[in-house]
Amino acid sequence: MKKTIQRLRTFLRRLFGRHARMAWVSHPIFMQHSPGKDHPDSPQRIAAIQTALKEQKIWPYLQNIEAVEVQDKQLALVHPRNYLSRLEANQPQEGKIYRIDDDTVMSHQSLSAARFAAGAVVQAVNLVIAKKAHHAFCAVRPPGHHAHSSKSGGFCLINNIAVGAMHAIAEYRLKRVAVVDFDVHHGDGTTEIFKDDPRILFLNTFETDLFPFPEGNIERGTNPNMLHTPLLRGTGSRRFRKIIRTQWLPALKRFQPELVLISAGFDAHRQDETGRLNLHEADYAWLTHKIIQAASECSGKIVSVLEGGYTLEPLAKSAAAHIGVLAGLPKAQYATAYDQYLNASRKRFPKLFR
Ligand SMILES: [Zn+2]
Repeated sequence: MKKTIQRLRTFLRRLFGRHARMAWVSHPIFMQHSPGKDHPDSPQRIAAIQTALKEQKIWPYLQNIEAVEVQDKQLALVHPRNYLSRLEANQPQEGKIYRIDDDTVMSHQSLSAARFAAGAVVQAVNLVIAKKAHHAFCAVRPPGHHAHSSKSGGFCLINNIAVGAMHAIAEYRLKRVAVVDFDVHHGDGTTEIFKDDPRILFLNTFETDLFPFPEGNIERGTNPNMLHTPLLRGTGSRRFRKIIRTQWLPALKRFQPELVLISAGFDAHRQDETGRLNLHEADYAWLTHKIIQAASECSGKIVSVLEGGYTLEPLAKSAAAHIGVLAGLPKAQYATAYDQYLNASRKRFPKLFR
């Protein structure tokens, strides 16, 4: 019965509710963050996702919203002024780059792009809380989850998702915000920022022997709601889904979040050149669906934010699978077929699923 009502609501929303559609929040400035032609964070990433959304006919179901720049007082909830002043002082001139470390590079417009990326998340939070959008996806660059409160790294300058979470807490007095991070890399910046803040539930899968090499180095604090779920190299759909089913979903249901923010990195896909996990694009559709179900008390209040995913083709198809489900569209046929294949083999070969 509950499922039928939910389906009916989704159908009516798609039919009549222009403002109740999912929001795509982005800005042309994200193309101008240019860390160099050999850098994995290519300006083409967002365009590749957009092309896949159009090809799969998901695009017409989205409201296209232009991001606004974050305000200093919103940034101050996460990053101290002296850190931001340091970034500002290092901003290179047009045509030049400034290397913070081997991976993290600033071009002339990078800091502006980072400010609009954080602004996009703040705006998306405002949209879903005001019910002007039913879920939102922030197509932003540079990514954010490796940015600590006072340290950049791993391509990240400003922790976009942390700024969005703190804005939701400060502006709307939310008491329970879930941050879900399925990027192949450990969200070390988000961990540092929220390790002592019990208003945040942080669910985090990552490959163990990959940057930032979290094995034994994960920062621990007083927040009991930090759930780090390391994955060994080669982990595929079966093991991944089992971990989500047994660890993430019960934690999400127990926490009863008022808002869910997703650090959506798609670099755990088997074809992504960055990591060595073996996820399939159908896993992103499956996981998104499970998150929506487990966080049903905050219906419509999910804001997903692009983190990693660097090989364009798997990035585009994975993001499209994720966004299609967030937009309330039926799962693509290939995703349903893949789920059925996994379910059938779960029954036939239960040992594989232990
Ligand atoms: Zn990543």
